[in-house]
Amino acid sequence: MPAPRIYHTEAIVLSRFELGEADRVLTLLTPQDGKLKAIAKGVRRPRSRLGGAVEPFAELQLVLARARTFDVITSASVGHAWLRLRERLESTATAWYLAELAERAVEERAYAYPVYALLKRAYQLLDDGMAPARVARWYEFGLADALGMRPEVERCVECDRMLEPDEEFHWLPLLGGTMCARHPLPTLERTELSLGALKLLRAYRRLDIEAIAGLRQPPDVEAEVEQALRGFIRNVLERDARSLAFLDEVRARQRMVAVLAERNASSQRV
Ligand SMILES: [Zn+2]
Repeated sequence: MPAPRIYHTEAIVLSRFELGEADRVLTLLTPQDGKLKAIAKGVRRPRSRLGGAVEPFAELQLVLARARTFDVITSASVGHAWLRLRERLESTATAWYLAELAERAVEERAYAYPVYALLKRAYQLLDDGMAPARVARWYEFGLADALGMRPEVERCVECDRMLEPDEEFHWLPLLGGTMCARHPLPTLERTELSLGALKLLRAYRRLDIEAIAGLRQPPDVEAEVEQALRGFIRNVLERDARSLAFLDEVRARQRMVAVLAERNASSQRV
């Protein structure tokens, strides 16, 4: 039996580009049909029926018609919008980064329900106000897991031995995680990782998200784990995400604002 021409699906917008005078092409992630491209015709006209209902950071209810190049969105409504996520620039930039990772990780029309569920949960966590960096690290771990490439943080990737609590180790994203000091180091990529950072990586692996949200860690350990997982994800997806530059810029600006506010406060105290 041929697939029905008209179908209904939930979807989250991963990216979009404008086409012609008034159309927009969306890359969507769906629970059953994986990633797909669909066209929202006339959406940029002021009185479009679709306008406003095909935005990112929302779970959409769509009716689509199969077509040769892009499926056509015939009707759209917002099932659930994560509105608070959009109020903070760092959450928004993180949400774009998570969407980009999903887009890179999933093939068109390939089963991707675990990634869909992961992205939806991550958006909900951002919306709930959880620290964007924590959500991003949890998501990176989950995404690697969904792709069957979970980072090894307990054993040696070379001899499969459990690492002793105080033994020397190296972090080698290219080989899949931690390696004990018994083996010669490959010259390609060598990353030292502190024990504190390894412990935080293990926490991401072992704990549920509620427990992760409550962890207190020094900023340098958080930064180390971020770099370690970025290295890992870069290898899994074979390049850096484009949206990282924007995310880094947003965070650098926030740090600067915080420093200025602190200076301002201390000069007023004098
Ligand atoms: Zn080993």
